[in-house]
Amino acid sequence: MIMSTMTALTPEVLAKYQPVIGLEVHVQLLTESKAFCGCVNRYGGEPNTHVCPTCLGLPGALPVLNRRAVELGVLASKAIHCEIRETSIFSRKNYFYPDSPKGYQISQFDRPIAENGWIDVPAFDATGAAITKRIGITRLHLEEDAGKSIHDGFADSVSRTYIDLNRCGTPLAEIVSEPDLRTPDEAFEYLTRLKEILLYCGVSDCNMEEGSLRCDANVSVMLKGAKQYGTKAEVKNVNSFRYIRAALEYEIERQIEVLEGGGRVVQESRLWNNAEGRTYSMRSKEQAHDYRYFPEPDLPPLVVGEAWQREILKALPELPEARRARMIAEYEITPQDAMTLTATRAFADSFEEAANAAKSPKRVVSLITSELTGRLKAAGLELEQSPVTLKGIVQAADLAESGELSSKMLKQLLDTCFTEGKDFAEVYEREKPQQISDAGAIEAMIDEVIAANPKQVAQYVGGKKTVAAFFVGNVMRLSKGQANPALLNELVTRKLDALGSAE
Ligand code: ADP
Ligand code: ZN
Ligand code: MG
Repeated sequence: MIMSTMTALTPEVLAKYQPVIGLEVHVQLLTESKAFCGCVNRYGGEPNTHVCPTCLGLPGALPVLNRRAVELGVLASKAIHCEIRETSIFSRKNYFYPDSPKGYQISQFDRPIAENGWIDVPAFDATGAAITKRIGITRLHLEEDAGKSIHDGFADSVSRTYIDLNRCGTPLAEIVSEPDLRTPDEAFEYLTRLKEILLYCGVSDCNMEEGSLRCDANVSVMLKGAKQYGTKAEVKNVNSFRYIRAALEYEIERQIEVLEGGGRVVQESRLWNNAEGRTYSMRSKEQAHDYRYFPEPDLPPLVVGEAWQREILKALPELPEARRARMIAEYEITPQDAMTLTATRAFADSFEEAANAAKSPKRVVSLITSELTGRLKAAGLELEQSPVTLKGIVQAADLAESGELSSKMLKQLLDTCFTEGKDFAEVYEREKPQQISDAGAIEAMIDEVIAANPKQVAQYVGGKKTVAAFFVGNVMRLSKGQANPALLNELVTRKLDALGSAE
């Protein structure tokens, strides 16, 4: 996207440069209580009600590390293929800001809990071919969140700032990537995959509107083929993946323009302005903080031994990428369908449970991917909002499998479900075809099918009893799905057995 505020750079000029991107992602961990005290870890609430002497930083109050925060940190670390450091250290990161009453943040510095990980993201090579790119993860460390300054929303706030310390001490994991990303699209994919992994592991709700996932994007440009990265700028305050992509696109062009104009990129933090679609300088690195890190004297080293690690990792689920690969093989579906079915772990779980309970899992898949998703799209609904539940889909699939419902009828019933906003069971009960329970009528149809298929009859008589299903299916079709299935089954077996003994 070329920003309208930029002087247009020609494609030739843009093509001279190679962007380099590294992301720092903060996620709030889904614990019951805060990182170092017993206060509830919950978004919102009346300002300054989820606080205590510890998270307010009152003198004499001591931190106690939340075990669950460590477990979630380890889980996340493993899911992004990091090595766990058995003994990690908490440090004080000193800075003065109203939303941090202690005057420092408890974080991890030179000995973080996890390092050297990676995640795979879809990307394109120089020829435009789709590839998978492995993005290095430098580290994951544990720390605490700060409070919030509130600048507006008050009648008398013209010259005032209010502080809400409810968020103070919320446990965070910070995940720092290597500068391995090369385009804003790759950054977008990285964030999408990372968020998906964290959601699957249940370590965070990753709700960007509520700030449970926040990202600082570092970006620089260099001439293609250069040996050294350019000077980076850090873009802060971006609250959606799409805006991060836009901010990176803007920033890359801004930096190229600076260099093309004979200038130098300044190392600085910049703020993204959504309304204007551009970044502004916030503070240069020369004014940057010296955090004067030192080990936190009130917390002992954190030791996560092998036994504890093993215990924690029992909760590691099958990760989205692996799950998709397995489902593609198991249900013979396309990668696109696999994406649809694994959109959330909850849906993937209930899908697989349903599919495996059905007569034919593959038919359930094809009903979802060919019939359901199209109707959802037309109705502008998400999978979770479908009037037809997975249970309904399984029922429909089983009826189709047994031949009791023709595909035409099935489609009509699904249409009705969508127009009436009702689940399949209800519509089927009302609209289901009249059943033929007259044994004579069914027998006549069985005779017809038997007469037309001597080969299958011979197979049955020869001992291949499973061929009975072939006759049941064909008679069911012949009856337009109206034959009473129980009766049909019984009569088919009786007739075929009679043929066998007659010989
Ligand atoms: P700082 O010392 O400014 O915090 P770090 O080396 O710790 O910088 O890196 C912070 C983030 O910036 C990481 O995600 C890293 O991948 C990224 N990064 C580092 N150097 C560059 C660069 N030249 N261009 C783009 N991103 C970079
Ligand atoms: Zn507290
Ligand atoms: Mg750093």
